[in-house]
Amino acid sequence: MNGKHSLGDQDTGEAEADFEDLGFSTRTIHDPFPSKFVGSIPGTSALSACGRAIKVGFDGPDGDLSATTQLEEKLARLEGAQAGLGLSSGLTAFRTFVRSLLSAGDEMIVHRPVCTDTAYLMWEIVSAVGAKLVATDLSDEKAINHSVTARTRFVYLDTPTNPLNQVLDVARISDRAHTHGLKVAVDSTLATPVLQRPLEHGADIVLHSLSKYINGHGDTVGGVLLGEARVIRQLREESLRHPHETAISPHASFLILRGLNTLALRMDQHCSAAHALALTLEAHPSVAWVRYPLLRSHPDYETARRQMTGGGGMLAFGLHRGADAAAAMIKRLRLITPGGNVAELGSFICGSSRLTTTRHLPLAERELCDILGEGVIRCSAGLEDAEDLVEDLLQALDFE
Ligand SMILES: *Cc1c(COP(=O)(O)O)cnc(C)c1O
Repeated sequence: MNGKHSLGDQDTGEAEADFEDLGFSTRTIHDPFPSKFVGSIPGTSALSACGRAIKVGFDGPDGDLSATTQLEEKLARLEGAQAGLGLSSGLTAFRTFVRSLLSAGDEMIVHRPVCTDTAYLMWEIVSAVGAKLVATDLSDEKAINHSVTARTRFVYLDTPTNPLNQVLDVARISDRAHTHGLKVAVDSTLATPVLQRPLEHGADIVLHSLSKYINGHGDTVGGVLLGEARVIRQLREESLRHPHETAISPHASFLILRGLNTLALRMDQHCSAAHALALTLEAHPSVAWVRYPLLRSHPDYETARRQMTGGGGMLAFGLHRGADAAAAMIKRLRLITPGGNVAELGSFICGSSRLTTTRHLPLAERELCDILGEGVIRCSAGLEDAEDLVEDLLQALDFE
């Protein structure tokens, strides 16, 4: 127990005793007072790493690869891409993609249930170059036929979707898009190359936020675009027009490279914890529905089996008693932290009131948002022992 943290008004003796009952993995993630520490920047170890990071970060006279070049090449190898471009964040990766590959008047087809902040930011970035988003339901790839115009350039999607965990069929969507001469870009952040490699299913560009699972330690941010060498060169030229905004720091690249070493192990644990939670929820009488790609009840189960090697760490569910019961349940959790974080090393949970910010969207763009039902609960399963997470959820669901 680290003495320098203030303990607030918690009952420290009881909390510490409960903490000792948790499994080893859980305790490697949480302090006895989890919400304070999850996702925070590690102290001294990050500082000492910094010295080394800067050393490996620059091209040496003997032509050593910089940390960023190593990162780009490693991610390209893992994703099956010819080349990669490291950027300062996932959002910067999206902005660079839009600025480079869309022009005024162009259109980009997106999947309709993009919601919330993501939709707003996408709309803002795309509007800034004078281009337009066209929302459709990509769970039926034929919908592309009705949305395509002479100005359409791209189909853009993320899968599994956030927060409803739909699995979109990249192969079918890519086939259909290509027959119209469109390119396909996939945000694969929540799957990582461990669970799905969209280029193998026909997509043209893959985007990742490296701030999430790929770095995996909640201590830095980054993004990457992956694809054909020629396209990546074009994207790199665009990024070099705004170097202060777009460049990923050598330190960030160093940390992300180190995080990558354990990505497969971590994804295994995220997946098994989320799957265990999904099975628990599905069997619980208070739970109305659960969406986890590898549940047989999931409408996209067959697609998930074809496209993914694991179900990922995210799940969505709803309770029979609706939004108020969901909020009360979230309050009773002891280990799973309330909050909108996704793909972190600790577990987080939030209700749809936190996910819907459609009021920020200009009226004409509201169609982008399938306004979420009131009672959607999104959970991002962390690296704690699955049994501890299941136990926590069960005690919180116990309404009687
Ligand atoms: C977080 C996130 C982003 C944005 O990435 P940042 O690195 O935070 O800018 C993009 N896509 C998905 C799916 C994300 O979860």
